[in-house]
Amino acid sequence: MVKELAIKTNKLTKIYAAGFKKSILALNEVSINIYEGEIYALLGPNGAGKTTLTKILLGLIRPTSGEAFIFGNPVNSDWKMRIAVGYLPELFRVNPKLTAYSTLKYLGELSGLKGKELKNKIEIVLSKVGLSDVSHRKVETFSKGMIQRLGIAQALLNDPKILFLDEPTEGLDPLGRIEIRNLIFELARNGMTILLNSHLLSEVEMVANRIGILNKGKLVVEGALDDLLAGESCDFEVEVSGEIDNNMGEWNFQKKNSSWICKVQGIENLHKIMDFLKNRNISIKAIRPIKTSLEDLFVKYIRGE
Ligand code: ATP
Repeated sequence: MVKELAIKTNKLTKIYAAGFKKSILALNEVSINIYEGEIYALLGPNGAGKTTLTKILLGLIRPTSGEAFIFGNPVNSDWKMRIAVGYLPELFRVNPKLTAYSTLKYLGELSGLKGKELKNKIEIVLSKVGLSDVSHRKVETFSKGMIQRLGIAQALLNDPKILFLDEPTEGLDPLGRIEIRNLIFELARNGMTILLNSHLLSEVEMVANRIGILNKGKLVVEGALDDLLAGESCDFEVEVSGEIDNNMGEWNFQKKNSSWICKVQGIENLHKIMDFLKNRNISIKAIRPIKTSLEDLFVKYIRGE
């Protein structure tokens, strides 16, 4: 089944004016594709252009050139397109004296909802984020994880088809992170497209299906996370049983706890070391692929290694 494109940008460029005759190229011909129902993480170091891209997609600023589409409609074309997008800002803060319910009522009214429709929507979003039972408790009694869930609830009030989450797990403890991660999975399972902006690469690695990495305004790589990680190195760790002597040729074994381990690069070297060990009658205890992490991938693309 061909998935529909939820977000598409075509050579999106943004130049900010920065004082007398100066300008900053914040986005340089960025073309991204985000498909319906996927969890897409937009990554990049500080100043890479992530916020600028997000602001253009939210219709808050205009690009200098290029185009952006949400479900095929040009961004900024009409307000109906804009409410197709829900947004959880970084550092979501609300009045701690209000209850979860009255917070959503207040924010819902600000976005033009009212009466029975608003009441129904509040009940639906509270249930989606698992806060129905505490809806009449003041926010000041909430954990940070619960406040983030309330933030996601407000972003869902207008029945968006796309959710932008800016650093959703920032400042949360491991349990709070698990809560938010599970909620993100649940929303995506029900068809929501999620655009995630986060510096916590280990978190991103656990949730994202696809990623795009921006560096100095350029998209340096985009693709399915599994494919990108699998396409990286094929290094292995070979562990042998028992003791070894000093006569291990080119193979550099290191002692780790009670085992001897050698790291080898590539499948050819793996075969070579296996032959070598067989000839020396040394038994192999384990061979493990060394997994490339998203952090390794990120560093590679940002440093251009
Ligand atoms: P961070 O991770 O630090 O939030 P970012 O990837 O979101 O960074 P942007 O905030 O989009 O990056 O900034 C991209 C570049 O554009 C930076 O060089 C920044 O200084 C510049 N910039 C952003 N907003 C403006 C503005 N309003 N006026 C001038 N320059 C700006």
